[in-house]
Amino acid sequence: MSLSCAVAWDQCLSRIKDSINPQSFTTWFEPITPLNLNNRNLTVEVPSQFFYEWVEGHYSHLIDRALLDVLGERATLRYSVALDSKGAPDLSEIPSIDENKKQKRSEKKTNLIDRYCFNNFVEGSNNQFARAAALAVAESPGKTTFNPLVIYGGVGLGKTHLIQSIGNFTLQKGGIGNVLYVDSEKFTIEFINSIQTNKTTEFSSIYRNVDLLIVDDIQFFTNKERTQEEFFHTFNALYNAGKQIVLSSDRPPKDLVGVEERLLSRFQWGLVADIQAPDLETRIAILQQKAQQYGIHLERAIIEFIATNITSNIRELEGALIRLLAHASLKSQDISLDVTKNVLRNLSHQKKKNVTVEEIQRIVSDHYGIADDLLRAKTRKQEIAYVRQIAMYLSKELTKNSLKTIGLHFGGRDHSTVIHALQCVEKQLQVDNTLKKDFAELHKKIEFSSN
Ligand code: ADP
Ligand code: MG
Repeated sequence: MSLSCAVAWDQCLSRIKDSINPQSFTTWFEPITPLNLNNRNLTVEVPSQFFYEWVEGHYSHLIDRALLDVLGERATLRYSVALDSKGAPDLSEIPSIDENKKQKRSEKKTNLIDRYCFNNFVEGSNNQFARAAALAVAESPGKTTFNPLVIYGGVGLGKTHLIQSIGNFTLQKGGIGNVLYVDSEKFTIEFINSIQTNKTTEFSSIYRNVDLLIVDDIQFFTNKERTQEEFFHTFNALYNAGKQIVLSSDRPPKDLVGVEERLLSRFQWGLVADIQAPDLETRIAILQQKAQQYGIHLERAIIEFIATNITSNIRELEGALIRLLAHASLKSQDISLDVTKNVLRNLSHQKKKNVTVEEIQRIVSDHYGIADDLLRAKTRKQEIAYVRQIAMYLSKELTKNSLKTIGLHFGGRDHSTVIHALQCVEKQLQVDNTLKKDFAELHKKIEFSSN
């Protein structure tokens, strides 16, 4: 059977597409051109060296899997770099996966990713405490009182990076046997599989024979009773043997509704440390560090522009930088402040289209089953006021209107009322999971609204 090169690559792409988000796919896979297929060696062209490194560093596991599916065992991918960023041709071929690296990967089976280490984890006031605790644990796993160490915080704030750093640090330092990282979703799926295949004993023994167990995103355990029970026994076995346990969660353990009490109390035996959103200085420091890591120089003004415009989390900060680099390397453009503004503008357009306050009012009132003119009416009835506050909050978040204008849209209320609403909702969002869910749904509805 001989598949043409384009068809083979196309089939790989359709597999890869299913596993990553659309924006990453557009950024990193659409620009790749298939060049040649020789036996099972597929050669593709990438726009730049940076591009190659990024794809190889982040997606090689997906590519490997797709190649295996499409071309079978021993299939390889070679990259050819079309032009470097200055436009000079460089057709040197870069082997896809260095064999050593592949070997090492399978030998360790720690599920750790090398690039998550303390060295490139930027310290800021938002993560100082968590980082110090993580480092202490990494230096003497199982020997501090921080057992378990639980790191919690919102998405994209560095939890995975930090807890993986602990694993990588202990491995490099040596002196410790087995390290295993797993996210709780994988733990759950493997556990269920092991029940179905009568292999629970094997499953248990894998997790109970490590010296450092790192479990990411334990909020995924909520309402999964049997998995929780299994994890309870794993926890006890490790804890009693003086082994180190490190956990991460998107909220403080005490707020993990749907997790058994006996586990919750164990989660709090050691140390619980939070990571907050980074402040401006930390965002700047992170961008500087990332730029350096990617080997590019960015003017201070550019870094500051990104850091002041992207405030929510570090993953988005990184996403913006990568998008900028990809853009510049695709177009062989130098990164100027104008280019940056353009790229970021496109990013935020993608995220927020021009939604109006009226539209938000309509969607929010519809969601809560009230008439939308009540949002503009004088009534102070509690349920109405609550929905009104949510609509005000979303109006501030998703439109460019000033507080004053937003107040006018809500029956001529003044801007201090709007500020009060924003503060109430902000506070409530920290503690109220139902509201968080509502918000996720409302965002979706607004995003897909036809107007
Ligand atoms: P979480 O697990 O909390 O959702 P991640 O650990 O996946 O977040 O972090 C998202 C991205 O931001 C990762 O690429 C990570 O390397 C980066 N990152 C987070 N915090 C820092 C930091 N303090 N310094 C450098 N990079 C960071
Ligand atoms: Mg994570």
